[in-house]
Amino acid sequence: MRPYKITSIVFVVLLILLDIAYLGGIIEWWWLAILLVLYIHALVFGAIYIQWNFFIQSSNRGKNERFIAITFDDGPAKQTSLILDILKQVNVEAAFFSIGKNAVQNPDLVKRWHREGHLIGNHSYYHGFNFDWQSSKKMAAEIEQTNHAIMEIAGVTPKLFRPPYGVTNPNLARAVERTGMYSIGWNVRSFDTKIKDPKKLLSRILDKLQGGDIVLLHDSMAITAEILTEFIVRARQKGYTFVRVDKLLGIEAYA
Ligand SMILES: [Zn+2]
Repeated sequence: MRPYKITSIVFVVLLILLDIAYLGGIIEWWWLAILLVLYIHALVFGAIYIQWNFFIQSSNRGKNERFIAITFDDGPAKQTSLILDILKQVNVEAAFFSIGKNAVQNPDLVKRWHREGHLIGNHSYYHGFNFDWQSSKKMAAEIEQTNHAIMEIAGVTPKLFRPPYGVTNPNLARAVERTGMYSIGWNVRSFDTKIKDPKKLLSRILDKLQGGDIVLLHDSMAITAEILTEFIVRARQKGYTFVRVDKLLGIEAYA
């Protein structure tokens, strides 16, 4: 049972008990308010921290002591081509979680991902701000649309899905189940879309790097391309080997 369901059951049971206690004049009304605030916090943090596996079971890290997996979100984008050049140069295979509409606009880059040994994952079709407010049916349709687009372009149907913004909720849980996808999170968030200083970005990723880590990067960011070679070289100096996330987790990439 997902933590979301357990939390909700505990909430309802406590609510009934506190209600009885309140009506019996044993406790003050604010005990009920505290319970409600705690429950809402659990829902919000459960939604934004994919690592909690609150609504969906995601794979957020591997169990290997030597292997690291790099994942890029949001492409094909501005830096994809340059990042592919770098990966080729340093001989690393990565995963690209593609936004469907970007894939349709840049089919050559999608083909290149596949040709050069990288994994293609699904990152929704529009990646809109309202993605998480949609019905599970609409979310599932977006996931299917992206899978279909990638199949048409590269000849493979992704099985791995990364939730847009890493946000999860009950509707997305149903959509992932309905489409037979497998949710992939991360445990190293680079903040490459926010950090402006390359040195800061590098130390953020490298300082706590451990075997089994899944690193979240974006092939839309220039700073990511800028630090990529040094990140890989220095991680290798620490004794790590880069593998694709499906290999790290021992799962199938495609349907
Ligand atoms: Zn994204």
